Amino acid sequence: MVPPPLSPAPSAGPLNGSEDRVLDPLYAQVLRRNPGEAEFHQAVREVLESLGPVFARRPEFVDAKIIERICEPERQLIFRVPWVDDSGEIQVNRGFRVEFNSALGPFKGGLRFHPSVNVGIVKFLGFEQIFKNALTGMPIGGGKGGSDFDPKNRSDGEIMRFCQSFMTELYRHLGEYTDVPAGDIGVGQREIGYMFGQYKRITNRYESGVLTGKGLSWGGAQARTEATGYGCVLFTAEMLGTLGQDFDGQRVTVSGSGNVAVYAIEKAQQLGATVVTCSDSDGFVVDEKGIDVELLKQIKNVERGRVADYAERRGSAARFVPGAGVWQVPCDVALPCATQNELTETDALALVRGGVKAVGEGANMPTTPEALRVLQDAGVAFGPGKAANAGGVATSALEMQQNASRDSWTFEHTEDRLGEIMRHIHHTCHETAERYGQPGNYVAGANIAGFELVAEAMLAQGVI
Ligand code: GLU
Repeated sequence: MVPPPLSPAPSAGPLNGSEDRVLDPLYAQVLRRNPGEAEFHQAVREVLESLGPVFARRPEFVDAKIIERICEPERQLIFRVPWVDDSGEIQVNRGFRVEFNSALGPFKGGLRFHPSVNVGIVKFLGFEQIFKNALTGMPIGGGKGGSDFDPKNRSDGEIMRFCQSFMTELYRHLGEYTDVPAGDIGVGQREIGYMFGQYKRITNRYESGVLTGKGLSWGGAQARTEATGYGCVLFTAEMLGTLGQDFDGQRVTVSGSGNVAVYAIEKAQQLGATVVTCSDSDGFVVDEKGIDVELLKQIKNVERGRVADYAERRGSAARFVPGAGVWQVPCDVALPCATQNELTETDALALVRGGVKAVGEGANMPTTPEALRVLQDAGVAFGPGKAANAGGVATSALEMQQNASRDSWTFEHTEDRLGEIMRHIHHTCHETAERYGQPGNYVAGANIAGFELVAEAMLAQGVI
């Protein structure tokens, strides 16, 4: 994972560069009420910048103060997470859960364990999740959580004790009809297992649908592990389709080497592409023959190693480059799958110079606003995370569906459903952008379509 840049995007100034009677005061209020939360400001700004045309057509949304209400989470939880490390020392972390919006279903969204986690990060992720989840067409609201706990170099026992302490507080706020967490950066099946075990023990309930991303033998869904990365490639394939192209023969760059990156690489290569990069916070690998995804899985998931180890094991086929810079490698398609604000304006300029045709965001908000402008001005097809990476949460909703009916589906059936959902999301964004006179603008399409779905439900449910 590439570290985020030090200075977040500027958040002041009128939206869209010109005064807007409704949206500007609203954004000013978000800045005032949420000081210091740069990533949250950035996420709100990007959505607000798309909504002018919706408010012009649907004044009832303005009158009902839908966006003011959407920007204010329904509930925000911050709690202490004390635990004892292997040397017997007491550690104290901070836990978060932001229950952002339940207009469409129970709060749904992952937990992130990373030292950078703070309330602004959780709020940006939760805010994005509202619209992403709406776009899936599944009955799920938006939420997000996590902790500033750093799982790096922690033993299995330490991870377990941390997860148990985290759940000892969080359990009282969860429930299959209330709030359903899953994984995100630093939280995979191992962590979900420890949290599920603790939830079960405290509540004395085998409530499978309270967490998603579970193991296959205890209520997990086939294809959930693969879903975010696969979905990102499927969405990007749909974008390429509108340009009369596909993945076959394309040169692809991917950042990251976590769950999303690994399965984006796998699916892109299944579709005939050559993926030449992956990365982590130490640097990136260039493998001109195409990343050996089985070797990468072995190193990352089994040995819990680094991408530098991958390059070493691949011998002369691959080289490791320390530091950032994966986007300087020329490609046809770029899939940022690491973390927020990892693809900067300089990177976007390099990608455009290298002839990039499409960018699909596997991570949440990996592209800075300045970089986005460069890519859009150059006519690059750009799939924003809330559409392109929605396959993960959509498959979580399929997991909830299976849990509710005490059923389990085959990999093939689940992957087919994922494919249908990604095509549906692409169609919705594409059609909405056209309906609002911005053909090909998936950012506008995703923001407007996601907002309309949530806004309609909120309007129907009254002032709550
Ligand atoms: N953390 C993932 C996301 O950003 C998945 C959330 C979920 O499955 O609930 O969408």
